[in-house]
Amino acid sequence: MAAHLFCHDHPETLTLETTVLDARPGRVVLAQSPFYTGGGGQPADRGTLRWDGGAVAVSGFESVDGQVWHVLDSAVEIAGAVEASVDPAFRRMMRQLHTDTHILNALVYQAFDGALVTGVQMYDDGTARMDFDVPGADNDRIRALEGPINDLIAQNLALNFSHVPLEEAQAQHGLIRSRSVAPPPTSDGTIRIVEIVGLDRQACGGTHLNATGESPPIRILKIDNKGRHNRRVRIGLAG
Ligand SMILES: [Zn+2]
Repeated sequence: MAAHLFCHDHPETLTLETTVLDARPGRVVLAQSPFYTGGGGQPADRGTLRWDGGAVAVSGFESVDGQVWHVLDSAVEIAGAVEASVDPAFRRMMRQLHTDTHILNALVYQAFDGALVTGVQMYDDGTARMDFDVPGADNDRIRALEGPINDLIAQNLALNFSHVPLEEAQAQHGLIRSRSVAPPPTSDGTIRIVEIVGLDRQACGGTHLNATGESPPIRILKIDNKGRHNRRVRIGLAG
């Protein structure tokens, strides 16, 4: 098994020719897969498999004994060569939302003394929610981050991706923002670091933009108090 996900090493390759390694009715294991299979609050990609004489939607993924099964929309049994395609609009929206959650996270972290993330979830309607442990936070101060977030999007800051050994990531303060969101180590024992240059570095296993300017502006839609310590912030892509 490759140490890194194909979608991380080749983020712009959404369609590829590959072969079926194992098949059951309605599910296949592929030699190589362009799909992000979900995790860290980011929903799995959607897409299509095409072969000589047919096509079927990919509706989900299941990991069994280190193998990723692509769950198909019908009970077809496929063998041989296939073309696997990620839904480009869905991937683009998730990359935008995911990158914007990092910007929000960075500004909350800075403004509220290293406040940690307690949960994150992106949705297919172009919104995302993040939960922060910010005891006694004034919600107006969180709401006021909308302008600075959009300034950082407009500045078109570059993103960098790298892998560091797990112990190094754990030793660096602020790199792992949340136990619940931290990505699992890859099979070579490293952990993936996502950097928004000049703003933020953190461990993350999702898909992101190449630069912040590839996102439209966002709006802070709602802030809910979840207990005394937690604030749930909902953002949405504008336009
Ligand atoms: Zn991320």
